[in-house]
Amino acid sequence: MSYDKVDVPADGSRIEVDDNDEFVVPDDPVIPIIYGDGIGVDVGPAAQKVLQAAANATGREINWMRVYAGESAREKYDENLPEDTLEAMREYKVSIKGPLTTPVGAGFRSLNVALRKKLDLYTNVRPTYHLDGVPSPVKAPEQMDMVTFRENTEDVYAGIEWEAGTDEVEKVREFIEEEMGYDATIHDGPVGIGIKPITEFGTKRLVRNAIDYALERDRDSVTLVHKGNIMKFTEGAFRDWGYEVAEEEYGEEVITEDTLWNERDGEPPENAVVVNDRIADNMLQQILTRTDQYDVLAMPNLNGDYLSDACGAQIGGLGIAPGANLGDGRMLAEPVHGSAPKYAGQDKVNPSALILSGRIMLEQMGWLDAADLVRDAVEATISAGEVTYDIHRQIDGGEKLACSEYAERVAERIHEMAE
Ligand code: NAP
Repeated sequence: MSYDKVDVPADGSRIEVDDNDEFVVPDDPVIPIIYGDGIGVDVGPAAQKVLQAAANATGREINWMRVYAGESAREKYDENLPEDTLEAMREYKVSIKGPLTTPVGAGFRSLNVALRKKLDLYTNVRPTYHLDGVPSPVKAPEQMDMVTFRENTEDVYAGIEWEAGTDEVEKVREFIEEEMGYDATIHDGPVGIGIKPITEFGTKRLVRNAIDYALERDRDSVTLVHKGNIMKFTEGAFRDWGYEVAEEEYGEEVITEDTLWNERDGEPPENAVVVNDRIADNMLQQILTRTDQYDVLAMPNLNGDYLSDACGAQIGGLGIAPGANLGDGRMLAEPVHGSAPKYAGQDKVNPSALILSGRIMLEQMGWLDAADLVRDAVEATISAGEVTYDIHRQIDGGEKLACSEYAERVAERIHEMAE
């Protein structure tokens, strides 16, 4: 495949996938990177430096391929999301990106959503754990060690919605009121209408990912988080299909909470993953009040959006929280935070979230030694009080570093730790 609108590196090999959609990773992979909008120009190069240090310290080399989306793509190519960017991400399988700005209410739809859809990255995964030295608003942040699995392609994010005042929305209103019998439900006057699809297919592949992850990483439980009490045929169906996966697709190694209590007095088989469910509003309390009792959470799109941010707040917030989007034989690492335009280009913000998103990428690539080095070096740097402004303002003392200086310190520590 030849590209006009991406910066192809001179060297490097392609990551392939095997028959089980597992990555087969050479020691010199080509990895596409989108710096992103706003602070993307700061955190992108900072993360590259740290991830390259971890690769080099473990005898490998990452060959970065700059690809473009958002502002940088508009400047260079006068389009938001060039087809070459998507094609490169499909061909090279494993990619990483910074934040992309989405205008509220008007303009184009979210490029983040478009990327996830076009690449069929149907799971958003966010490991949320506390790093020593990071200030937190809760008393015992070390109790937080959850991994959220958020469905990425359905729900009210599917983009099926109509604007108030259009012919389309009036057509939909007429159908709902007259054909479906909800004539007394929608107030008179202008209305915006959106549709919330939740499919068996979309639910089951997400829940499967969450259970597989829990089994592979020796986690104790997977909790299905839903609002099925109110939205019975969408969120309730998510819960039911989730339980079907647990009951029908795994043997003794997966057990539902009901079976656990009805048949085993609450005593799970050894190494088994327990699948339970919680209503989303209750879950938002539970992450605060019973933090250490939860492990892996599997959720439809909107619940996942809220809950993953709420979990992130408990371990120190946006400068730290990493994430990744997974599809079959494809992944895109990205931080939880947005483009924070007011700090763009100031070499100021915390690049840890993108660096730790890169750590998830290294884990998925099977470079566990490099991934551990990244986590340990970030933790050691923050514990030593060498931090960016966001953490500095919350601690006594410490040394306030620029984004690039902080990345330099983390990279130095990686080399020291690897010696
Ligand atoms: P935001 O960009 O995440 O920024 C909100 C605040 O979070 C910042 O003002 C800053 O707080 C803090 N923050 C964010 N990133 C930080 C970092 N790396 N280091 C330190 N502090 C950080 O959220 P937003 O202002 O709501 O969104 C701005 C744009 O980003 C919107 O267009 C939105 O759509 C987009 N967005 C994109 C993604 C994505 O690409 N996946 C995700 C979310 C939002 P202080 O000012 O208090 O220091």
